[in-house]
Amino acid sequence: MLDLAYQAPKPKVISGAKADWELVIGLEVHAQVASNAKLFSGASTAFGAEPNANVAFVDAAMPGMLPVINEFCVAQAVRTGLGLKAAINLVSAFDRKNYFYPDLPQGYQISQLYHPIVGEGEVLVDMGPGIARLVRIERIHLEQDAGKSIHDMDPAMSFVDLNRTGVALMEIVSRPDIRGPEEAAAYVGKLRQIMRYLGTCDGNMQNGNLRADVNVSICRPGAYEAWLAGDKDALGTRCEIKNMNSMRFIQAAIEYEARRQIAIVEDGGTVMQETRLYDPDKGETRSMRSKEEAHDYRYFPCPDLLPLEIDQAWVDEIRASLPELPDEKKARFVTDFGLTEYDASVLTAEVEAAGYFEAVAQGRDGKTAANWVINELFGRLKKDDREIAESPVSPEQLGKIIDLITSGDISGKIAKDLFEIVYTEGGDPAEIVETRGMRQVTDMGAIEAAVDECIAANPAQVEKARQNPKLAGWFVGQVMKATGGKANPQAVNEIVAAKLGL
Ligand code: ADP
Ligand code: MG
Repeated sequence: MLDLAYQAPKPKVISGAKADWELVIGLEVHAQVASNAKLFSGASTAFGAEPNANVAFVDAAMPGMLPVINEFCVAQAVRTGLGLKAAINLVSAFDRKNYFYPDLPQGYQISQLYHPIVGEGEVLVDMGPGIARLVRIERIHLEQDAGKSIHDMDPAMSFVDLNRTGVALMEIVSRPDIRGPEEAAAYVGKLRQIMRYLGTCDGNMQNGNLRADVNVSICRPGAYEAWLAGDKDALGTRCEIKNMNSMRFIQAAIEYEARRQIAIVEDGGTVMQETRLYDPDKGETRSMRSKEEAHDYRYFPCPDLLPLEIDQAWVDEIRASLPELPDEKKARFVTDFGLTEYDASVLTAEVEAAGYFEAVAQGRDGKTAANWVINELFGRLKKDDREIAESPVSPEQLGKIIDLITSGDISGKIAKDLFEIVYTEGGDPAEIVETRGMRQVTDMGAIEAAVDECIAANPAQVEKARQNPKLAGWFVGQVMKATGGKANPQAVNEIVAAKLGL
């Protein structure tokens, strides 16, 4: 449920030539189910295979072939529904959505129009520390993906690759609760994050793992609230922008589309409900076809498949196996480790990073661990374009580096050098400190000697510092340099001040 600590942001307002307008957005997200086999066949779903290498007879719609439901894909849809706090329908059913297209050999797509497997749910979309929006999920249904037509390999012919035909998709339909381009992108990001935690969708947008049809309409301020209160006609007519697979383009397309609709309405025209395509090169949407209705597809129950009945016990079993989800993990990081909400968000963005951080923070100061993971480790990995799973520094090694700082064996500055050595060469941090003489000098006698030497060698600076105590920092810097950064900075500060009589 909506945490009262969160506050909903104001909807995006666009000023037209004549009035202010608000945006209303609803998304239909197609998420490829993470599964080795397709929804109704045993063919592989591996990405990047030779064209038509992963096609079973049923995928190619050979006569007499019958679909057989893949139980694992059903479990993945249930798991996703539970992760989105949604109702699971113990009885659902498959329908045929009829249309002709060369990459659809059956002549219909098997989908779930009337009885989807997952009902209403909700997603909390983070819009920065302390700010989030609740987006309601209307339904999730299972359906088959289509194949791919290839028009640019031959001047005279088109080819078809059926590898993707029959791959399981979850269509996640939101209510029109999204109120701006940033929220739309953040919503897709949150779905992706939750599904990656659940292991139900890889969320690789470049590979087409996650695509969104974006419905956009405009309305005058107050109309959305009137719609929420029950006025069915309060919202504007929407246009649907098909098949978006980039967060950046989703935002740009919404922005463009809203301004296009505002111009039409302010000009006295009416927005036509239609399906549009976004052209990233031109930065605009263009009409693809007028909106099709359910009856255009002559939907009917698929006669090849029995209604899908699942047991409550099986759903409970799946529920019991759910991992800790991002919102809960983030809240726990804030309370258990004393992190800021921002740091907790960064650390829980990917489940692997969260696991890494927890291993480092266990039994140590949480904030220090967070700083090291976010600033040093993430920064260093990014420089090399590496994932957390490929980190050359293990959580144990990073933990030991932090322990060496805490125990006073090394200074924070030396710790960064040590981190770089462990990152590039590996090895045990404590051993490296010993063999390379990186231990911090806390021997007061040695520091005093270095300070004396520095003061004796710079009489002019001494005079200046006595008149302006801020200049004492110069001596601290010199002594740190003379000791190779190994002197305890606090001790150097104190001794310099005492010797200069400040
Ligand atoms: P249909 O039955 O025609 O497919 P739905 O009511 O199922 O339409 O809505 C499809 C998608 O469009 C949903 O994600 C929904 O949130 C969104 N949507 C519906 N009405 C609007 C609107 N006025 N403005 C923006 N999005 C909308
Ligand atoms: Mg619909």
